Amino acid sequence: MNTVALSIGHSPRDGGAVMADGSQSEYQYWLEHAPKIKRILEQQYGISAVIVNRLVNGGGTTPGHAAAACNATDAILAVDLHFNSFEPASNGTETLCWYNSARGETAARHLQRAICECLGTRDRGIIYVCPDKRTEAIIASSGVRADSSRAVSYFQKTRMAAIMIEPCFGGSNPGECRLLQDRADALCAAIAQGIAGAVKAIAA
Ligand SMILES: [Zn+2]
Repeated sequence: MNTVALSIGHSPRDGGAVMADGSQSEYQYWLEHAPKIKRILEQQYGISAVIVNRLVNGGGTTPGHAAAACNATDAILAVDLHFNSFEPASNGTETLCWYNSARGETAARHLQRAICECLGTRDRGIIYVCPDKRTEAIIASSGVRADSSRAVSYFQKTRMAAIMIEPCFGGSNPGECRLLQDRADALCAAIAQGIAGAVKAIAA
């Protein structure tokens, strides 16, 4: 049976962004909802899921600790769970993967599509995380989104295909905050469906 690591973003010590209505941090939201993703993966798709956290299982609060937590499992795919925050009008879905990981990119595409279809959010696309500014410039010159400032050590250190999901701007956009709350169950089902598609593709 294939195993995936569901990595709850941030930690009990630093919860990440807080939802626009002040109710939950990224950590609290995914601590509550990740078990639903795990249950659906196991019951509907026959995929084993291990829930981890960077501080609890990786020994620290950096993205590199999230990688350590995932590497301690035998997962073939690591999914780091977040939501975005910027300005009230910021909106849409984006998924991050390592710039030269074909399996990470495949997984990111599956999750990006499943989440956009579920939430009806704007497709902001895949972000290719790069190790440095020079690589970022090269990747961006082909017309895709590239970033060398977000979670580099998570992608650098994970030994399996790895992605980071940002389903919407629940931390700053009141409408997308409501989406995260009202559609939480549907979102978990969509994430499980996207993971199942990704696992099928990368395990082949
Ligand atoms: Zn986050």
